[in-house]
Amino acid sequence: MLSVQEAEAKISNLTHPLDPERDRQWISLDEASGRILAADVQSALDFPYWDNSAMDGYAVRTADLETCSAESPVTLDVVMEIPAGHNPQQGISAGQAARIFTGAMMPTGADAVVMQERTQRNGDRVIILERPEPRAWVRAKGDYYRAGSPLLYDGTRLNAPEIAILATAQCAVVAVYRQPVVSLLSTGNELITPDQTLQTGQIIDSNQPAIAALVQQTGAITRRLGIIPDQRSALKKAIEGAIATSDVVISTGGVSVGDYDYVEEILVELGGTLHIQSVAVKPGKPLTVATFPNPDANNPRPILYFGLPGNPVSAPVGFWRFVQPALKKLSGQSHGWEPTFIRAVSRLALKADGKRETYLWGQLVLMLDGTYEFDLAGGSHSSGNLINLANTNGLAVLSCDRPSIAAGEWVLVMQVS
Ligand code: AMP
Ligand code: MG
Repeated sequence: MLSVQEAEAKISNLTHPLDPERDRQWISLDEASGRILAADVQSALDFPYWDNSAMDGYAVRTADLETCSAESPVTLDVVMEIPAGHNPQQGISAGQAARIFTGAMMPTGADAVVMQERTQRNGDRVIILERPEPRAWVRAKGDYYRAGSPLLYDGTRLNAPEIAILATAQCAVVAVYRQPVVSLLSTGNELITPDQTLQTGQIIDSNQPAIAALVQQTGAITRRLGIIPDQRSALKKAIEGAIATSDVVISTGGVSVGDYDYVEEILVELGGTLHIQSVAVKPGKPLTVATFPNPDANNPRPILYFGLPGNPVSAPVGFWRFVQPALKKLSGQSHGWEPTFIRAVSRLALKADGKRETYLWGQLVLMLDGTYEFDLAGGSHSSGNLINLANTNGLAVLSCDRPSIAAGEWVLVMQVS
């Protein structure tokens, strides 16, 4: 049985990111939210595009104001007004100022802006009440970005800040990685969908909706293949079809040692290579990981198969710990795909058996002083109890060498979302 760290390293090695050429597509910036850049981006424009004012006020020449102060103000002639968007047709010379507004272009001759609040307007003259430093309140051309240098890098996830940057650089069309296709199937004769009538003894499939939501959050396209009975031929057909048409296949259930657990045998029959069959983790020990050759013989990236255990807590916890980082890495994201662990003070005592690395769900709470506390979810931490998973944003890690933690002691908590 592999340790959690061994399994994590194995999965990371098996996960090849999408290819910047083979898997690239061009999309409008309007559709780019959450997508991953598939090429470095440069702009032909400096930013700011030209020297402009950071304030509403007056563009001045500092040489005119060397002795200026509130006690000894200097009066200048206001020779023009420059609103944002205008291209000033003349400059200013000795003794002159230009009325200027935020974002408006600086006129030639001016080397600073005095904010409106430090002036008094008097007809077509202005009284300046302070001595500005050269470049005061001036955003100089190219100060924030020089045309031709790297702006954003391949592998960057496009959220609001990056989209604003691309917009300002006039990148209306961007190269991104295509979204990985992830197929989901739930195995189990006992399962029904949430909209079916529950017959005595049956179990409602909670894994597929949960895993679909988690997969979507990574930016992948989800294909829900529904419930497949524990029947060799049906399961084999479903898995075979999924492998042929997906980048990743995730099943839940059927990977334990029970009489109806066929998944591993089928993976081998279909030509898969089993890399992981169980991990010393709780919940989620019977994690199965296999790879298949890419259906495109020229593509070296293998198709990944994750067989998560069926228990309704083991499936999401196994996904968070092992599958989510792999999906993010596969999607082309160059950083931020690894799990984040936070040192928190546990509010309650935490206990594990010390035989397997144990993950206990609950809430990470950010305190006013910037430290974190961990609030263990109340109720049973059985892998069958999904009810107290609500509002989980952290999994406390109880390693085998530190299986019990007293209230008030620190614990490492994996952030999840
Ligand atoms: P298995 O891993 O197939 O042995 O399933 C372990 C337990 O999880 C059994 O009690 C199953 O009924 C339950 N289970 C399996 N799949 C699901 C599912 N998709 N949703 C909810 N419970 C499930
Ligand atoms: Mg089963």
